Order: sequence, then C-alpha cells, then structure tokens
Amino acid sequence: MKYFSTRGHPGEQSFEDVVLAGLAPDGGLYIPKDIPTLPENWRSEWAGLHYQQLAINILSLFISPDELPPADLVSLVNKTYTVGPSAFRVPSITPLVQLDPKIHVLELFHGPTYAFKDLALQLVGNLFEYFLNRRNSKKSSGEPLEKLTVVGATSGDTGSAAIYGLRNKANISVFILFPQGRVSPIQEAQMTTVLDENVHTLSVSGTFDNCQDILKSLLADKEFNEKHHLGAVNSINWARILVQIVYYFSAYFQLVSSPNVDVDHSEIQFVVPTGNFGDILAGYYAKRMGLPMGKLGVATNSNDILARFWKSGSYQKVDPNAGPVAGGVYATTSPAMDITVSSNFERLLWYLTYEKVVQNDEKSKREAACKRVRDWMMAIKSRGTVDLSAVLEVARRDFVADKANDEQTVAIIRKYYETRAYLVDPHTAVGLHAAEAFAKSNSAATVQVILSTAHPAKFAEAVQRAHPSFDPETVFGGLLSCERRVQAIVGAEEELTGLVRNAIDEVASRQHWRNRVEVAKGREV
Ligand SMILES: *Cc1c(COP(=O)(O)O)cnc(C)c1O
Repeated sequence: MKYFSTRGHPGEQSFEDVVLAGLAPDGGLYIPKDIPTLPENWRSEWAGLHYQQLAINILSLFISPDELPPADLVSLVNKTYTVGPSAFRVPSITPLVQLDPKIHVLELFHGPTYAFKDLALQLVGNLFEYFLNRRNSKKSSGEPLEKLTVVGATSGDTGSAAIYGLRNKANISVFILFPQGRVSPIQEAQMTTVLDENVHTLSVSGTFDNCQDILKSLLADKEFNEKHHLGAVNSINWARILVQIVYYFSAYFQLVSSPNVDVDHSEIQFVVPTGNFGDILAGYYAKRMGLPMGKLGVATNSNDILARFWKSGSYQKVDPNAGPVAGGVYATTSPAMDITVSSNFERLLWYLTYEKVVQNDEKSKREAACKRVRDWMMAIKSRGTVDLSAVLEVARRDFVADKANDEQTVAIIRKYYETRAYLVDPHTAVGLHAAEAFAKSNSAATVQVILSTAHPAKFAEAVQRAHPSFDPETVFGGLLSCERRVQAIVGAEEELTGLVRNAIDEVASRQHWRNRVEVAKGREV
C-alpha cells in the first residue's frame, strides 16, 4: 500500500517513509491510496480473536508484506499489546463496560500513561525502532548509524505517551518540551520520572504555544533537521491513526459477545471526545472499511470549531459569536482537547471533497481533491476562516456533532458517579454529554459506545468538582515522590528556540562521543 499527501506533493511513499516522516514535505498529511475493504468472512473469522490478532489482521490490510514481513508484524504487535508493568494493565487491552442498556464505554486508558494515546504510541515506538534497526543492519561496518531524534511539544498527554512509547529504544532520542508549571502535577511526574538515557524532558519558561512554536521552527530548519534526523510523533503521524482503527473492531466484537445486546438488530453509534480529530478519524476509516455503524458522534468541549462546522459549514478558528478568548483557546477541564484548528480534520476533508469532484479519471480526481484541500488549508492559515459548505452535506451523512462546556462536563461526571457508581474523566464526560444529545434523535435500536480517553485519576481536579472525596493518590501514589530528571529552559521568549537547539546539540555530541568510544572498544576485543 502506498501513501500520498493530502496537498498533492508529487509521488507516493511507502509505509515506512510515511511513519518516519510524519508530515509530508508540502505540509499535507499522508493518506493511503485506497481504503481496504474487509475480507468476506471477517465477522465469523475475526469473532473471538484476541486484541493482538485483531490488530495483526487489520494492520496487514494496510501494510504490504514486502514492506513489513508478516512474521515481523506479528512479533511487533505481540510485544506491544501485552500485559506488564510498562505495557497494559488488562488482558483485553480495551475493555467495553456497559453503563446503561443503550450506553457502553470503551476504556482506552489501561496503558502505561493512563490515556488513549498509549494504544498508538506503544506500537509507533516499536515501529520506529524496527525500521531504524533494519536500515542500520544493511550498513557496512564503519558507516555511521541512522538515528532518529524525536522532538515533541506537549500540554500533557502526548508527551508522556511518547516518552513511554520511546523509552529505551535503540538509536532514538526523545526530547519533550512542556510549559513550566502549566501541566498537571501527575502529567509532569509521568514525564520527568522516566530516567532512561534516551529520554530528555525540557521544561520551558513559556506557554504551550511557545513550545509548539519552538518545535515548528526546529522542524522547519533544514540544516538542524538533517543533522539530527528529526521525527515527530504528534497526532498527524499516519501510524497513530492506523493503529487506532483496531479498537473500533474490538468494541464491535465485544458487543457481539455481550448477552445484553443484539448486534444484528441494533445500530452502533461511536461517540468520540475530539480535539485534533485523530481518535475519531480512525473510526471513520473503520466505517469506510465496512464495520457496521451509524453516524459517528463528534464531541468537543468549548473549543468547538468542529461542532460549529457541522452546524454551519463554516470552519472558523475563532467563534464570531463568542467573547474574546485569550489566544483563541479556552482553558477547559478537558485540556487534551483545547485546540483552535483540528489537525487531522484535513484528512477527512480530503475524502469529503474527493466525493464531490466531477472529473472521471482517478488521477485527475485525486489531483483536484488535493488542490481544494491545499487552498482551504492556506485560507484557514492566512484568514482564520474558510467556507466549507460545499462538503457539509457529505460530512453530515457520516457524522453528527455536539459540544459540552465545563459545567455540563462536571454535571455528567456527577450523574454517572451518583447513578451508576462509575467515575469518568472530563474528556469522556464530554463524550457522554454529546451522546445524550445525539440519543434524542437516534432510533430506538441505537446502541452507543463512548470512547473513554483517560483514567479519571489523571484529571483529578475536575473529577473532584463532582466527587470531592476522590483521591488520585490511590492510583498514582508512588509516582509523585519518584526521582526526576528534567532540564529547565529559561529565557526571554526570543531566546527559547536557541536554548532548546543548544540542549539538543549538547546531548547529541555527548552521544556521538560515546558511540566513538564504543567503536574503539569494539576494536580492542
Ligand atoms: C489527545 C486526547 C484527546 C483528543 O484526541 P484527538 O485524537 O486529538 O481527537 C482526548 N482525550 C484525551 C484524554 C487525550 O489525551
């Protein structure tokens, strides 16, 4: 399977190149040439499979065996989705919990950092390592080894999931920039207590936006990029989307085997708390592949650019009807969804506009879709708004959208705790709130599955507003007092990029020196 850029950069890339590159050279996002359909007897043959085998079956549809030999894919997947102290805590990996005859929650938070990003980043780390090892094993002795320096900016969850996915991986260093004093104590502890030599956390005297700006300028710096071979693990990496498709199937088969649900006479609606549209986009691929489901539910917090698009067809960074917001972003109780524009939405837009293109040969159809996406993305970047009413109808065919503010979020946490003794985190609560709104216009046969993206203890402050005696220490007790390693990057705003660049250079030169020593030692033996 080959991949191309949503903005039409010429040429097609292999899975390996796409995973290692992250973003396409023209700023577009990689998508597969085709969306594979399911094998004919998938329902009977895949029923009852363990999560690992399900993952192998689905990934094989997107990755050709000549790119990744099946035996290697099997061992990568088996080593990733396993139960262990730095892996997952439950054998089913993503258990489905029934809260109500019509409401289920798919728990995606049983990985090492207690949030759904682990599902993808645990495998992405192993893929990075595998591809680098394969490239390096082909080099003749004396040739320098290929290395990867992963740099990420985080407001909390991505950083810790990336660190746990990449710790202790050969030939990979990871640098995570986070805004000093602006991530939760648990998130900071998760990032800074990983003491593996290849993990570097940098606490930057600035905001999350400053961290992202630093990252962007490092990625745009060709020379620096070549010197360190920079890689990115943010949510635009195709591998993350791909890997997330698996749990939609896992949820489906768990419903099939549930004694309380008659799947053949129900319509399944997945509802997904959304920020950068990565988690829900995987659901869209699952639907397109043929997994039976109704409309996907997009759930946003007050940063509701997506909900507003589904209402009006206009994709607008700042809500013209809202009061002024600092930096255009509301700080909500569900911070992992505090975004202005939603990066993976570009991938969906490509599919939506492709359907509307009238050219009849495949090549010009694809080019026309890429051109529209490119123009739209330029417009949103330069003007902060773009009219997408041309694709609104197609978008409404597959999705519904709604939002929840902080008050509604806390009310939902309280409601499910008091009536079901089930505690949800604020992101999941946004999903549950939207699900209740969607249910009003659903048919009686609809069964909803809300994707639960984080463990409540990770966002204890918001949870305590609904349940004051909740104590996150019971989950994270030991973590806050563990030994930490973190480098402070302190300076005026305009100095920060230079300081981060120096920190990365400094670590790399130390490693270079160590590699030379290792080579020298090798000769002695
Ligand atoms: C990242 C994150 C989200 C949003 O996921 P997207 O793929 O960006 O939509 C939701 N909840 C939690 C807890 C997250 O960490």
